[in-house]
Amino acid sequence: MNRTEMWRRIEDHPKTWDMIVVGGGATGVGVAIDAASRGYGVLLLEQNDFGKGTSSRSTKLAHGGVRYLEQGNIGLVMQALKERGLLLQNAPHLVRDLAFIVPNYDWWEAPFYGIGLKLYQLLAGKYGFGTSRVLSREETLEHLPTVKTDGLRGGAVYYDGQFDDARLLIHMVATAFEQGATLLNYVEVTGLTKDTQGFVNGVSARDAETGNGFRAAAKVVINATGAFSDLLRRKAEPSSSPMIAPSQGIHLVFDSSFLQGQSAIMVPHTSDGRVLFAIPWHGHTLVGTTDTPIAAATLEPVAMDQEIKFVLATAGQYLTKAPTRDDVLSVFAGIRPLVRATGVANTAALSRDHVIHIDRSGLVTICGGKWTTYRHMAEDCVDQAATLAQLPEKPCVTHHLHIHGSQDAAKQFGSLAVYGSDVHEIRKLIETDARLGEPLHSALPYVKAEVAWAVRQEMARTVEDVLARRTRALFLNARAALAMAPAVAELMASELGWDEVTRTKQLAAFRDVASNYLLH
Ligand SMILES: Cc1cc2nc3c(=O)[nH]c(=O)nc-3n(C[C@H](O)[C@H](O)[C@H](O)COP(=O)(O)OP(=O)(O)OC[C@H]3O[C@@H](n4cnc5c(N)ncnc54)[C@H](O)[C@@H]3O)c2cc1C
Repeated sequence: MNRTEMWRRIEDHPKTWDMIVVGGGATGVGVAIDAASRGYGVLLLEQNDFGKGTSSRSTKLAHGGVRYLEQGNIGLVMQALKERGLLLQNAPHLVRDLAFIVPNYDWWEAPFYGIGLKLYQLLAGKYGFGTSRVLSREETLEHLPTVKTDGLRGGAVYYDGQFDDARLLIHMVATAFEQGATLLNYVEVTGLTKDTQGFVNGVSARDAETGNGFRAAAKVVINATGAFSDLLRRKAEPSSSPMIAPSQGIHLVFDSSFLQGQSAIMVPHTSDGRVLFAIPWHGHTLVGTTDTPIAAATLEPVAMDQEIKFVLATAGQYLTKAPTRDDVLSVFAGIRPLVRATGVANTAALSRDHVIHIDRSGLVTICGGKWTTYRHMAEDCVDQAATLAQLPEKPCVTHHLHIHGSQDAAKQFGSLAVYGSDVHEIRKLIETDARLGEPLHSALPYVKAEVAWAVRQEMARTVEDVLARRTRALFLNARAALAMAPAVAELMASELGWDEVTRTKQLAAFRDVASNYLLH
């Protein structure tokens, strides 16, 4: 999978695509997999890197959403629990089940959460992950050795899924490619073309690497640009009213001493009525999130001071060692593409259900939803888009379609487990050139071969692509990522033939982005 091959597919393609998908996050790539696996001709264009938007910045939970149960949205929870089960089945190398503990400090909490979480387990039916139950104080401490003990009465345990979002996404890009789709990163859709009756019939786009513009025709164009959906809709109809209410959420990352053991903490009611998680992730502790309405989406959102204070203070209420700003290894922010609703005052109360909207121009917009439900969203979207484009009816086949690299028991591959069956190829690289087995930093498990692999097979084009989304270095430890950057740039320069000027520019651009992940 590389850019040259993708451009060749474009050149070889007859004039009109069945579908053009705009946006290379979970939603767009999910649509590309669904459409290509049905046999439709699909082109997907992403303005930056795959997953640069929200899809690399989530809490990384494949979940039904315990909170939505409380809101009474049973249908949404059941659908998401089914998708959680399918995701584990189809991508076992990237998704795992995880025990979540709700620690109880009040007498009423054990029966209250015990019953709710039992219902959550039952709603999963045959896609269940594990048995929810009430825990004694001792059992709670066995799961969570570093939870605050003052006043601790016990807890309730339930099970959900955890995954590595950006890694899953790149394996999904590979899956779509294998199914025949053409997918390009660093190509921005700058405009929509229309036929004489005013119907959208293609896109104009610009390759960010060369600056060259081009046009591509399609029977239907799908807008999967997440928090940016309204911008593209306005290119079709300048007067269209906004659909998206963007809301920011942040996470802080600490070392593993803050949350020892293999279980996560779920705080169902923070001081301002949100849910907060502390989760073990890639040998670190991930804590989040917030839900702060913002005026407009940006590609590199930055955590606000009040969000950082809130997460630190809430985590401190539940952990024996209260984390401080100095303990933060990385901070990252993401934007929820929530769908607007009239009469709803705060974004936390907005539905996480997805919406498919067809403008009068025929532009199909899919937004909202969750990472967990991307497959279901894609099925729904392709059904509607195919009808609109009068494509021959073809059934969805993604229920049991394995994601690229799918391998049971990938755990045995240690830090390379996220590559699934590709691990053998990465090991071959190291066998051929022992220097590629060298680590890039003592604080993180990444080796040089992963950089070569990311460039050769995973369409990584920048130092940031490698450090933020092919590996997760920037999200785990921003200072370590900065220290790794020169070695990564050197490896990429020899793979991609960069001259000194390009290498220097790449490093400067990475330092600029990485400064947003450091707490000063
Ligand atoms: C803080 C937070 C935590 C979350 N946690 C979870 C969780 O634990 N579990 C879960 O299931 N869900 C979670 N979600 C929700 C989930 O992450 C999102 O629903 C999902 O990632 C949205 O994906 P998307 O593809 O719609 O948007 P994005 O990932 O933002 O993708 C849209 C893409 O479109 C591209 N684009 C925009 N304009 C153009 C253009 N003109 N041309 C080409 N490309 C363009 C952008 O660059 C971007 O990459 C969370 C969300 C947030 C914010």
